[in-house]
Amino acid sequence: VHEYSIVQALVEQVETAAAARGASAVHRVRVSIGALAGIDPELLRTAYDLFRVRTICERAPLDITEVPARWVCRLCGGPIAATATLTCAACGGPGRLAAGDEILLDQVELEVA
Ligand SMILES: [Zn+2]
Repeated sequence: VHEYSIVQALVEQVETAAAARGASAVHRVRVSIGALAGIDPELLRTAYDLFRVRTICERAPLDITEVPARWVCRLCGGPIAATATLTCAACGGPGRLAAGDEILLDQVELEVA
């Protein structure tokens, strides 16, 4: 399952961060999921709840922030409305995705002894 491999990578990132800080527990994990990342937040949450058992994330709730897609002009950098054409109203340039395809580990709340 796609979401399961995402969760596995997230938990590995959390474990790395916890080890680097000498943390004994993780209290909360925050992630940002872009609207175009191809991730179903509910499936991600379900996968996380299954995967976190007996990991350092076992008692850490997952906060998911859904990031809407945002487009900018490839030529002038101006914002572009997410319409069917995705061209710049100011200069006619082509659109570039500026946000919305990311999967980011935003924040980990750690317990450091
Ligand atoms: Zn433009």
